[in-house]
Parts: sequence; C-alpha cells; structure tokens
Amino acid sequence: MAKTRSFAAKLAHESSLEGKVICPKCNTEVKKIKLIRTRKSKKGSWAPKYDFVSFCKCNEKDILEGKI
Ligand SMILES: [Zn+2]
Repeated sequence: MAKTRSFAAKLAHESSLEGKVICPKCNTEVKKIKLIRTRKSKKGSWAPKYDFVSFCKCNEKDILEGKI
C-alpha cells in the first residue's frame, strides 16, 4: 500500500505544477509579466500602455534593458 500512496503523492505534486510553462530553449519557467510603456498618441501627448509579455531567460536581458 505504501507504494500506491507514494504514487498518488507524486501525481499530486506534478499536478501542482500545472499552469507553468517551461521554455524549450532556455529550460526555465516562462512567466507572464506586465510591462508599462509610454506611447505617444497622435495628439502628441504621452499615454501609458500596458502589455503582458512572456518573460524567460531568452528575453530577460532585452526586457530589462527596455528593448522589448
Ligand atoms: Zn527561454
């Protein structure tokens, strides 16, 4: 019975990881982060714009440097 119980515990543990996305390139968790950017409107005023972007090791540097 101990074997059955440990199998169930393993399943429970794995299901707790659901919703996580692992990047196939850098093998780290891909997180959704909210970026606030300012965009100049046609009228010439600056308006904040909110974007959700996927964030992992691949584009971490670009995001932190404001390239994306
Ligand atoms: Zn990646």
